[in-house]
Amino acid sequence: HLDRIAAVDDHVHAFLHVDREGALAAAEAVDADLAAGKAPASPLAGVPLALKDVFTTKGIPTTCGSRTLEGWVPPYDATVTRTLREAGVVILGKTNMDEFAMGSSTENSAFGPTHNPWDHARIPGGSGGGSSASLAAFEAPLAIGTDTGGSIRQPGAVTGTVGVKPTYGGVSRYGLVAFSSSLDQGGPCARTVLDAAMLHEIIGGHDPMDSTSIDAPVPPVVAAAREGARDGLSGVRVGVVSEFRGEGYQPGVLRSFEAAVDQLRALGAEVVEVSCPHFTYALPAYYLIAPSEASSNLARFDAMRYGIRVSDDGTHSAEEVMSLTREAGFGPEVKRRIMLGTYALSSGYYDAYYGSAQKVRTLIIRDFDAAFEQVDVLVSPTTPTTAFKIGERVDDPLAMYLADLCTIPSDLAGNAALSVPCGLSDEDGLPVGLQVMAPALADDRLYKVAAAYE
Ligand code: GLN
Repeated sequence: HLDRIAAVDDHVHAFLHVDREGALAAAEAVDADLAAGKAPASPLAGVPLALKDVFTTKGIPTTCGSRTLEGWVPPYDATVTRTLREAGVVILGKTNMDEFAMGSSTENSAFGPTHNPWDHARIPGGSGGGSSASLAAFEAPLAIGTDTGGSIRQPGAVTGTVGVKPTYGGVSRYGLVAFSSSLDQGGPCARTVLDAAMLHEIIGGHDPMDSTSIDAPVPPVVAAAREGARDGLSGVRVGVVSEFRGEGYQPGVLRSFEAAVDQLRALGAEVVEVSCPHFTYALPAYYLIAPSEASSNLARFDAMRYGIRVSDDGTHSAEEVMSLTREAGFGPEVKRRIMLGTYALSSGYYDAYYGSAQKVRTLIIRDFDAAFEQVDVLVSPTTPTTAFKIGERVDDPLAMYLADLCTIPSDLAGNAALSVPCGLSDEDGLPVGLQVMAPALADDRLYKVAAAYE
């Protein structure tokens, strides 16, 4: 995999940092254990993995795709990083991402975009485009992403790979650089559903270092994937979300989606239409809630504690240093989010914007609750379109935000959801994703359906 990265990453740019020595040392340690007759630390011991650059890694630079953190080497491991190391998983390096995970294309990375391995002129999705592209380019067999509004599933869909957003609280956020704390969720990315399930079982589980971590066992996702692949879907009730089609969706995406639904039926599932009327308000609610939380979280980048500090002659006040540093360190999308968020939280506007968005969030949770009384899982296309061209949407933030139309409801509700490849669009030959959504803590249902379908 290191050779493959050396051969193709100049063109793909999935990695911000390749930890060649660390990876070789980790792989040799696994070999030494095996040679000494010790049982492997986990079923994935010795398997290489690409880690999104939003997780802290002791001794390995962590930038979050931002100039602000350029050169920062964390003094500690995120829980996800530590758990991977303890399982013997070999961390190849850190993957490219939109700055602070804000974006849908990786074009907001301060270090240049990642290219979609299917067509280098196109985006690999975002914010975790580097992780998904590394899988599609065969630079890594496993990767980790984070999903706040779709950043695991949307890159999965447009690169033809699997991406899972576990139930909120299912994977520890300790050491995950915060964007929107009530939404951020780490999860597995892989080329097959079973690979993702095996990784999910390693990174999932309760962590006392994360106050929102769920104190419950990891759902039996590996067994569910095996069961789905073996037994099919008889007795499984699948709901097609009526709101996610029509205007704004490419016909080729919808045709691939309809073919996938037919296949679910052929596998034995009972398929019905389900209306979730408030899902259409999820996107505007998200773009108030996520920037509000971001504006608060990003206050920690104050030029004193982390990363770069800009002060030309040393005579500036702390406030001037802070503002010079933030001016130079943050890209335009991050500044836009901070302005949106501080505005939505400001006195006199709080109830109108943030408060209303929180009420919409409750209505979306109720839509899911009502839907899951009728069906076991919901399905939709993961994204309205296939991978768009690099540059096509950079000057139009609203068009960029639309990439997450179908993924955001599960983030707002804290439910589990995944994207599994469902063929190539007959319009442009590019990958399409099938999104499967399940109730909180029923992550195993996603794997059963996706593994049966795959
Ligand atoms: N594209 C969305 C945004 O820009 C989602 C990002 C994410 O899930 N991290 O906020």
